[in-house]
Amino acid sequence: MKPKVKPNKLVVLSGSGVSAESGLPTFRDAKGLWNSYSWHELASPEGWQRHPEAVLAFYNERREKAWQAQPNAAHAAIASLEAAYEVVIVTQNVDALHERAGSRNVVHLHGQLAYARGTSEPEPKRYRIDGSPIVMGQLCEDGTQLRPDIVWFGEAVQHFEEAEEHVATAARVLVVGSSLTVYPAASLVRYADRNAEKVLVALDMEEVPRGFTFLQGRATDVVPALAARWLSEAGS
Ligand code: NAD
Repeated sequence: MKPKVKPNKLVVLSGSGVSAESGLPTFRDAKGLWNSYSWHELASPEGWQRHPEAVLAFYNERREKAWQAQPNAAHAAIASLEAAYEVVIVTQNVDALHERAGSRNVVHLHGQLAYARGTSEPEPKRYRIDGSPIVMGQLCEDGTQLRPDIVWFGEAVQHFEEAEEHVATAARVLVVGSSLTVYPAASLVRYADRNAEKVLVALDMEEVPRGFTFLQGRATDVVPALAARWLSEAGS
């Protein structure tokens, strides 16, 4: 049975573009070579088997930069929507900028830099490490080497069914800063209700999904104006 749409529910699907103006490169901008390793080599189970030190060093650098970055006006505007709406953020981002801007309900599809986990399957223990590095020899309590709690190429995304349900029950859906090219995250837009208000914010977009209004521009310009409109519509 189709889940029921909640008039007050607002879901934000965010991608790396929402953090670009906080100084974190988008996927497209960052996926060149890092110290002669390809992005795939640094973000895959095979790369981890071959060069664990390089993988840890790469994520230690990203974690440190993400921890030093500050939330921007788009993160803040999204957090402000909680004054009037039940807001759920479903993000492909691995930074913690939504949470640090004050958002309380953030679902991370691709894991988080601020956590480490053991390498035993299927349910490794996770540890909150914030901006700290992970080093070789640092072990989980089950005795396995710690690795970043990041979903690598070929690994299953986290919380996908929960995310589908959130999108399907939202009366408003905002996609911000995602090219909608990384699957399965990109397929979530298809679960939006036909009558939901659906808005997409990006600098550029090859193909705008059906039913979405494309607001072209920088997240820090467009999202605060949109949030102000939605807050006034809710009487806040
Ligand atoms: P992408 O790089 O494929 O697309 C970025 C999108 O953001 C584009 O549509 C672009 O127009 C838009 N954009 C860029 N700057 C913007 C700005 N200032 N304002 C508004 N829009 C802007 O990114 P994706 O679709 O998120 O796919 C990225 C993948 O890379 C994900 O899997 C994610 O896990 C990972 N990633 C995450 C981070 C992060 O956590 N900050 C950074 C890099 C990569």
